[in-house]
Amino acid sequence: MKKNIAVIRGDGIGPEIIEQAILVLNKIADIYGHSFNYTEVDMGGCAIDKWGDPLPDEMLKRCTDSDSVLLGAVGGEKWNSVPGNMRPEKGLLKLRAGMGAYSNNRPAKIWPQLASASPLRKEIVDRGIDFIIVRELIGGVYFGEHKTEEVDGMIQASDLLIYNEKEIERICRIGFETAQKRNKKLCSVEKSNVLDSSRLWKKVVHSIASDYPDVMLTDMLVDNCAMQIVKDPSQFDVIVTENMFGDILSDEASMITGSIGMIPSSSLGSTTCGVYEPIHGSAPDIAGKDIANPIGTILSAAMMLRFSFDMAKEADSIEKAVSDLLDDGYRTGDIMPSDPEEAKLCKKIGCSECGRLIVERIK
Ligand code: NAD
Repeated sequence: MKKNIAVIRGDGIGPEIIEQAILVLNKIADIYGHSFNYTEVDMGGCAIDKWGDPLPDEMLKRCTDSDSVLLGAVGGEKWNSVPGNMRPEKGLLKLRAGMGAYSNNRPAKIWPQLASASPLRKEIVDRGIDFIIVRELIGGVYFGEHKTEEVDGMIQASDLLIYNEKEIERICRIGFETAQKRNKKLCSVEKSNVLDSSRLWKKVVHSIASDYPDVMLTDMLVDNCAMQIVKDPSQFDVIVTENMFGDILSDEASMITGSIGMIPSSSLGSTTCGVYEPIHGSAPDIAGKDIANPIGTILSAAMMLRFSFDMAKEADSIEKAVSDLLDDGYRTGDIMPSDPEEAKLCKKIGCSECGRLIVERIK
């Protein structure tokens, strides 16, 4: 099969981790007889430096013309002082909106080999951590009007959180459908005790529940959910929530599985052309040192094969290679056990070595 992949290396550790994912894709292409053609796309701080724009229209077009987008991460200290509408993250929001990618899927699953890397107590981890956060991605407060103005002699700022029923319904349907393919439990997370947008959310999710009689729907307030994720993550199967709540909860969920560097994500709309990226940011504190964990990005590439290219076998072989690497005791710094005795049984590796060892294990 021939596929065109738009590649956004971005800023910070972005280029290092994307390089490893490309090596992995090239090995898959070799073994399974595919041809992956990569089109480079400038986005984020590097695009601001080069084009004065975090995602020029021509770059967005390269993405919408592709079969899917593989993204590292964008942003960094250097661009923190540029005006709000020109920040690197604006490129990310423009990309998601331009691709119509309204549904972001972030698995929180603990790899058994990394159980001791979870900051949770062993008895909690042993109950199992395996759930998915389905996050609405192109609406809510990140896309509402942002205003900073002077009122009564004081500067004030506001951000509008806005959702309509259609936007809520389409993401909640993805939540139900995801639950149908798993353990048939959907938890809808909102803040309906305070926010109108959440009251509408709750009304809409219940109005379509009868279309999915096999799924058990529950409601949870976002503050309680943040607590339950660390208290008893085994209770969750699929969580569906709005943009900002999903952003925050999925970072929390990633930490309990060991490291933010391990978690991939997919963002899809009404076509199979999606955006695939690790859930972490550009990690400027470790950029350029060849110590970042590339596994979240490599697993994002596997998700791209599975969900956009219908290449389940190929995705399985990447995931198996990652599992084999962990079985063999290789760990990047972020997933090294903190217990010195356990650490003695592991081998610490850097980003490029991690990529190479995974490529070696792909059969
Ligand atoms: P971050 O996710 O970049 O880093 C948080 C912590 O996790 C840091 O200590 C970092 O070293 C560590 N970390 C992250 N990824 C890692 C990996 N693969 N391997 C090992 N350790 C890893 O979040 P931040 O520090 O809040 O943000 C840094 C920049 O990234 C900011 O400019 C932010 O706006 C941007 N950001 C971008 C995206 C994106 O591109 N999708 C997402 C979040 C944040």
